[in-house]
Amino acid sequence: RAKLDGRGVVRFFQQKLHDELVRQHYLSAQLEEALDNGEFSLHYQPQVSAASGRIENLEALLRWEPAEGPPLSPAEFIPLAERSGVIHRMGDWVIEEACRQQVEWRAKGFHEHRVDINVSGRQLVRPDALKSFEDALQRHGLGPRDIGIELTENVLIEADETVLEDLWRLYHRGIHIAIDDFGTGYSSLSYLKHFPVTALKIDRSFIHDAPTQPKDRAIMEGAIFIGHRLGLEVVAEGVENAEQLSLLREMHCDLIQGFFFYRPMPAKDIDRLLGGFVPGSEGLSS
Ligand code: C2E
Ligand code: MG
Ligand code: MG
Ligand code: MG
Repeated sequence: RAKLDGRGVVRFFQQKLHDELVRQHYLSAQLEEALDNGEFSLHYQPQVSAASGRIENLEALLRWEPAEGPPLSPAEFIPLAERSGVIHRMGDWVIEEACRQQVEWRAKGFHEHRVDINVSGRQLVRPDALKSFEDALQRHGLGPRDIGIELTENVLIEADETVLEDLWRLYHRGIHIAIDDFGTGYSSLSYLKHFPVTALKIDRSFIHDAPTQPKDRAIMEGAIFIGHRLGLEVVAEGVENAEQLSLLREMHCDLIQGFFFYRPMPAKDIDRLLGGFVPGSEGLSS
């Protein structure tokens, strides 16, 4: 290994860290303003039946397009929003917008699909977060077939009594509760026995290499098997090619989400899909 100039390296990383902190501070301040200015929107990514290719659900994914500068990924700004606390307002906005859009779709005659929103752990620190979710549904005249939620396993593990009670209430009302990024948390499988869950979303890291890596394939297959034995719906995330799809179909995975079928897109593009226009369905003719 080449010997590095220690001090030069330290200076380099200090500068990087400094730049990054400045950028984060700047972005946090922008988030509040961006909410006021309506710079956020929801994109929707279809989940299709592995068997039929039919669109069953849509995942709502937050997008930020600042008035100036390029769009930012939620992977970048959600953690910032969590740290600064603006995640609560942002989460309220997401629920409200998803409900509004779903009501609009229903009015247009699109009755089949459900919309699922992402809820982060930090959002549930606010004790009334799930109650305000239920209130929003009620206010919009929506029910369990209309809107569901996605949580990561860590969120369930770390949830306190009140949150769990609320989740159980949602569950008993028939609200769809999916475990997002399944298999990537630091939890034992036993939580699947104790928590209110209706679906597993297998993380895309396992899907990605399943065609070439026996271990990834084993984990993917195992997850589908466990999910089904527990009576859960199983969704594969990040499906990008025909090889992955064909394995998932062989294993009777229920739903497929990924660029191979559809990328996340604005609501108006979803209108065309729900209206019957189906690009990408050629992927299923095998
Ligand atoms: P997630 O919930 O696991 O969402 C799936 C992510 O995978 C999305 O990234 C989606 O665009 C991406 N994806 C879907 N299909 C493919 C594929 O075939 N290949 C690849 N490489 N990627 C694919 P996105 O939209 O950038 O969102 C990132 C994360 O940000 C989400 O991960 C979620 O944890 C969080 N997020 C997004 N919207 C919201 C929101 O409204 N509220 C909260 N709390 N978190 C959100
Ligand atoms: Mg998700
Ligand atoms: Mg996910
Ligand atoms: Mg993810």
